[in-house]
Amino acid sequence: MTDAYQALTASLASADPEIERMIEAEGRRESEKIRLIASENYVSEAVMQATGSILTNKYSEGYARKRYYEGQQVIDEVEETAIARAKELFGVEHANVQPYSGSPANLAVYLAFLKPGDTVMGMELPMGGHLTHGSKVSATGKWFNPVHYGVRRDTGRIDLDEVAEIARKERPKLIICGGTAIPRTVDFEGFAKIAAEVDALLMADIAHIAGLVAGGAHPSPVGHAPVITTTTHKTLRGPRGAMIMTDADHAKAIDKAVFPGLQGGPHNHTTAAIAVALREAAHESFKTYAQQIVKNSQALAAALADRGYDLVSGGSDNHLNLVDLTPKDIGGKPAAKALDKAGIELNFNTVPFDTRKPFDPSGLRIGTAAVTTRGMTEGDMELIAGWMDRAISAAKADKESEYEVIAGEIREFCKSYPIPGWHA
Ligand SMILES: *Cc1c(COP(=O)(O)O)cnc(C)c1O
Repeated sequence: MTDAYQALTASLASADPEIERMIEAEGRRESEKIRLIASENYVSEAVMQATGSILTNKYSEGYARKRYYEGQQVIDEVEETAIARAKELFGVEHANVQPYSGSPANLAVYLAFLKPGDTVMGMELPMGGHLTHGSKVSATGKWFNPVHYGVRRDTGRIDLDEVAEIARKERPKLIICGGTAIPRTVDFEGFAKIAAEVDALLMADIAHIAGLVAGGAHPSPVGHAPVITTTTHKTLRGPRGAMIMTDADHAKAIDKAVFPGLQGGPHNHTTAAIAVALREAAHESFKTYAQQIVKNSQALAAALADRGYDLVSGGSDNHLNLVDLTPKDIGGKPAAKALDKAGIELNFNTVPFDTRKPFDPSGLRIGTAAVTTRGMTEGDMELIAGWMDRAISAAKADKESEYEVIAGEIREFCKSYPIPGWHA
């Protein structure tokens, strides 16, 4: 048991053994399974310690040097440090580190630049967009007028000619690029040209790929999208939170939209942990991590393709693969449930032009950030593809007993890849 783990849990264990038991169980689960959920990761012990610090005690509505409560001598420094590091790492003119998470960050952009009923264009949810990109069930779809683009049926990729055509016809005020299930590079420059032509504001939502952008493994939207939103907890490997980065022209409107427009006091413990994560991301080793994520994603794609799996768009440029299970004759949901029992955690997902229902779609979404953080490399992806194939075959053959056999092999395998913040 590491000192860090003991420090984090000693008081909890005596004060609330019930919750401590659950955290212990989750730690074991995260350590014994292969986690392939594309939006998840393992943060460092340093990030965890900042998240669990006394900074949670402080109220600090407003921004550094302009607060509504006293006692901000340290908090101002924390927030300014996080902002300075975000600006330096991503090369942006302005950063707001207060959004509680990715969804409120995106809503702040709507609040800053749109009026209710304005037209906004984003990628359609079942094509790989996010709820906050104008989905009908989201506030962004209820309060604004969403129009959508998708991917081409034949290539599985965004067709910028089609995006331009929709933009010319619909004249959106805001165009959003980025998404949750895009296995390919986002062409920020191409989107910027379209936005300029129709006089729309371009927002890049890099929630999934922020760590790749920071590590140089995906092109940066800076210089193309004047407004960039991101979560901090996906490939960027920070605490659960978000940032909005802008050029100087859009800075003031964003700050006003986040506070007082949408939120009250910022989560200072999270801000500190974001600062820690940004420092880690500026380190040389983070470049290696970002590149290894992509190598692993491509190795996993190749290993799955070898076993007859159909990858949307034919593969991956980033951390993510989308598998269309249609040729394997099994739904995404039963496959995901079987894999979970076999020690491999991922999520079922719609594929473009899915013929099945969203609650049991045809696809699986697979990400390699978390396994890369643990130190797994290309050879391990071959093993993972093998286990996945065995579990899916077992599901098709109703051979439930096979799951525990696979899960046991994976438990053994995972012992070589300890996770931060949890004892072995
Ligand atoms: C995850 C994600 C979000 C939302 O983040 P939450 O922190 O879950 O609210 C927004 N946009 C994209 C593209 C995402 O992937």
